[in-house]
Amino acid sequence: MNFDADILDRTMKEKAGARLEMWLSICSRCGMCAEGCHYYASDPRPEHVPSYRIKPLLDLYRRRGKVTMEMLETLRDVCYGTCTMCQRCTMYCPHGIGIAALVHAARGVAAAMGMTPSGLASGLQNALEFGNNLAVTEENFVDTVEWQLEELQQEMPDAEAPMDREGAEYLLTFHPRDIKFYPQNLYNYLKLYNAAGVDFTLSTRAWDSTNLGLFAGDVPAASRLAGNVIAAAEALKVRAVITAE
Ligand code: SF4
Ligand code: SF4
Repeated sequence: MNFDADILDRTMKEKAGARLEMWLSICSRCGMCAEGCHYYASDPRPEHVPSYRIKPLLDLYRRRGKVTMEMLETLRDVCYGTCTMCQRCTMYCPHGIGIAALVHAARGVAAAMGMTPSGLASGLQNALEFGNNLAVTEENFVDTVEWQLEELQQEMPDAEAPMDREGAEYLLTFHPRDIKFYPQNLYNYLKLYNAAGVDFTLSTRAWDSTNLGLFAGDVPAASRLAGNVIAAAEALKVRAVITAE
């Protein structure tokens, strides 16, 4: 790929903010955050200390964007490959530094430079195009729901899986892999909500509980995907959205 210094410069300015710059400047490298990180717990290498995740971003700021492609590749590998943005480390940091927020900013830089890992980029493209990250068609979604409902009705004859029912209390959403690869999970969700007597509906238009735009650090895409679910919830007049993972 080509290195576009203008995009990098513009993105760095967009990402900059008082809180982010303060966090970058006050980290004392004390390492107390290491105890909170599951990467470090399972493989205690220096690279897995949470504060290491922010070093590539710090390098970008210190050099005011005058960096090499190699440095950007390091940023991409660290921010996408070694952090789940769980925020546990912040609980262990005496300054409360938001490593996850800094990693999110770093992912935003990588995304703007077209460096989102290919698997994540294609999932995000699917989500924008099909409304779910595994490109399940509406027909297949409805078919899978009907199939699992029929199975469930062998066990619970009165079970329901209402689709696009206006005025239900809750809108249920799912991880697309539960629809495409593990329909037994869908069966279990439906069983649970029916047994609990929950007033719910599914939506043909917005059922993906994931937001790969957020995960990728692509804020406009994240807003668009979240907006799809909000629009469906408002159209169906539900009280709340339940996301299953
Ligand atoms: S605990 Fe906080 S100050 Fe210490 S290294 Fe980690 S992020 Fe930096
Ligand atoms: S936010 Fe990242 S660095 Fe911090 S504990 Fe979670 S995985 Fe580790």
